[in-house]
Amino acid sequence: MNKKFEPIIGLEVHVELSTKTKMFCACPADHFGKKPNTQVCPVCLGLPGALPYANKQAIEDTIKFGLSLGCEISDFSKFDRKHYFYPDLPKGYQISQYDLPFCKKGVWKSKDGNTINVRRIHLEEDTGKLIHIGTDSQIDFNRSGVPLVELVTEPDFRDSVLIDEFLKDIQLTVRYLGISTGDMEKGSMRLEANISLSKDGKLPDYKVELKNINSFRFLKKAIDWEIKRQEELLEKGEKIPQETRGWSESKGETVSQRTKEEANDYRYFPEPDIPPITIKPQLIEKIKNEIPELPWEKRKRYQGLGLSAGYASTLTSELSRSKYFDDVVKLSDDISVETIAGLMINQKLDEQYLEPAGLVKKILELEKKDFAKADETDSAIIEVLENNQKGVLDYKEGKAEVIGFLIGQVQKILKGKGDPNAVREAIITKLNG
Ligand code: ZN
Ligand code: MN
Repeated sequence: MNKKFEPIIGLEVHVELSTKTKMFCACPADHFGKKPNTQVCPVCLGLPGALPYANKQAIEDTIKFGLSLGCEISDFSKFDRKHYFYPDLPKGYQISQYDLPFCKKGVWKSKDGNTINVRRIHLEEDTGKLIHIGTDSQIDFNRSGVPLVELVTEPDFRDSVLIDEFLKDIQLTVRYLGISTGDMEKGSMRLEANISLSKDGKLPDYKVELKNINSFRFLKKAIDWEIKRQEELLEKGEKIPQETRGWSESKGETVSQRTKEEANDYRYFPEPDIPPITIKPQLIEKIKNEIPELPWEKRKRYQGLGLSAGYASTLTSELSRSKYFDDVVKLSDDISVETIAGLMINQKLDEQYLEPAGLVKKILELEKKDFAKADETDSAIIEVLENNQKGVLDYKEGKAEVIGFLIGQVQKILKGKGDPNAVREAIITKLNG
């Protein structure tokens, strides 16, 4: 690895919440595929005199997301106006949060134990959508005012591989929490990255922002490309301008979009139409109790059950599948978790047997076919009992738990192919005989 230049990368992730209504009005928030401009009102159209009011569910969802990532939750918070002009923003400003976000100082840990710090998670409103047709541009305001959560990490990433793992966990987390679909192709999750290279261990004096990237794969390509581009420029002794770049998939490279505005260009000030918000410890406690088992907790539990890291992470990557797996495990004592996971992942038997009980039945049938023959089983049991006289005596003295050990010995001889129930019954019969 090139030690002369070290990539310094931070991420911004926007996630649309799946609340019933928009952030500051009663219009439906579910806008995807709806007829343009049918879910609008004076508030989300930015008409003069319209008064916004905050969506409580969206605030609770944001706090839930923050708690899942170990964030501190502000006991006092507020909304601010962020001013900029763009046709999809009818008010001329976005209601966002500036200095008092709902959540700050969170932590995410990778599978290898790398730590990424989350700087803040705040709540804001989405903009309308521009649709370009030929030389015409049209605006759909159905998306205007949809609750949008923004997560900002510290610049802790050093390569695109860890970024990929982080983003997949963030997507899983919002899905597990049920606060967003996290669908990239529908724009429910949108990614941005800030990249600069530190030269000879010195802090960089510029930042290149990668924006409007709509897939994990494209983001990885864009970051890898950008690292190379910046390395070459620095190598030549050139200064890298502060700018926003996008990814052109057809060219296979990043392209300049505009030079970056400074934070104070936005003229942030407190939103005067929405009173500040006090968050009581009881509310935080209530939300904490609603948080389900999170992806990294589930992976750990699965590995604890004896699953390989690969199987554990495949099953965890789909909530419905992991629930199915949990149900099958609950229904079957004798089937190994690795067998269940293997049949689900390699043979997709969970798609064939929609009920977990159906899969259990199928596995038992499969295993029976493969069971050792009765005479083989019998001679194995006889051999084990002869070689374990102490175990036999222990059993006769009332130590029933020795049966498990004896079954294990028989299975060893049968290479695991003994029918567990038949072996147990045969051993007990012989011991009592
Ligand atoms: Zn509205
Ligand atoms: Mn934002």
